[in-house]
This record gives sequence, C-alpha cells and structure tokens, in this order.
Amino acid sequence: MVECNGVEILQEICGHLRFDLETVASANCIPCRMPYITSMFMPRMVGDRPLPVPRGSKNFGFISQFVEIQDDVVPTVEYSVRAAQLVIRVAND
Ligand SMILES: Cc1cc2nc3c(=O)[nH]c(=O)nc-3n(C[C@H](O)[C@H](O)[C@H](O)COP(=O)(O)OP(=O)(O)OC[C@H]3O[C@@H](n4cnc5c(N)ncnc54)[C@H](O)[C@@H]3O)c2cc1C
Repeated sequence: MVECNGVEILQEICGHLRFDLETVASANCIPCRMPYITSMFMPRMVGDRPLPVPRGSKNFGFISQFVEIQDDVVPTVEYSVRAAQLVIRVAND
C-alpha cells in the first residue's frame, strides 16, 4: 500500500466499497503517510502518561491524547475534550 499512487489507492478503496471507479473519476487523491499515528496505541504502564492534573499540582493541566484518563479510549476528539473538561473540573474543585 505504501508504494501506491493516488489513482491506485482510489482503485483499491472503490474495490472494497464496490463503487464504480467512474464515481471518483474527478477525485484527486494525494497519498500521505502518518508515521506516528500508532504512537497512541503503544503499550504503557500507569504513570507513563500524566494525569490531566498531576496530583499536587496547581494552575496547570495537560490535555491531548497523551494524558491518562481511566476507562477511556484514544484516538478520538472526545478523548481530548474530556481531558480538557477534567482539567477544568479539577481546577474548580
Ligand atoms: C486521519 C485522522 C482521522 C481521524 N478521525 C477521527 C474521527 O473520525 N473521530 C474522532 O473522534 N477522532 C478522529 N481522529 C483523531 C482526532 O483528530 C484527534 O484525536 C484530535 O484532533 C486530537 O485533538 P487535540 O486537540 O488533542 O490535538 P490536535 O488536534 O492535534 O491539536 C494540537 C495542536 O497543537 C499544535 N501544536 C503542536 N505543537 C505545537 C507547539 N510546539 N506550539 C504551538 N502549537 C503546537 C498543532 O499544530 C495542533 O493544532 C482522527 C485523526 C486523524 C489523524
């Protein structure tokens, strides 16, 4: 797959979706790679990633996919939103 050009990628997708290739005749597919996309799924131990507000800290918080939120799952927009919500909630406690 990494060696495919845009036309070949569209052909592959159309094949999977059973779309007529004519459907995407005017589409322009520009291949790009995301070498770090799996970084969020790397095995980790509790403590490897910070809590949104680390215990004992004040006046700052961490957001993003790389904070530890119990029973939540990356990689979603919701995860980042929940991280920000947690920071605000803890800050207001
Ligand atoms: C191809 C793709 C498809 C996705 N599809 C979905 C989906 O369908 N549903 C879903 O829920 N999630 C999806 N996601 C995941 C979702 O986009 C991310 O989880 C979410 O955007 C993360 O939000 P964030 O605010 O934590 O980080 P980001 O949106 O990555 O924002 C971080 C910001 O910080 C900026 N930045 C970085 N370094 C610095 C610096 N040193 N100084 C200043 N600014 C800096 C960056 O430019 C960026 O604007 C998808 C992601 C990708 C890549």
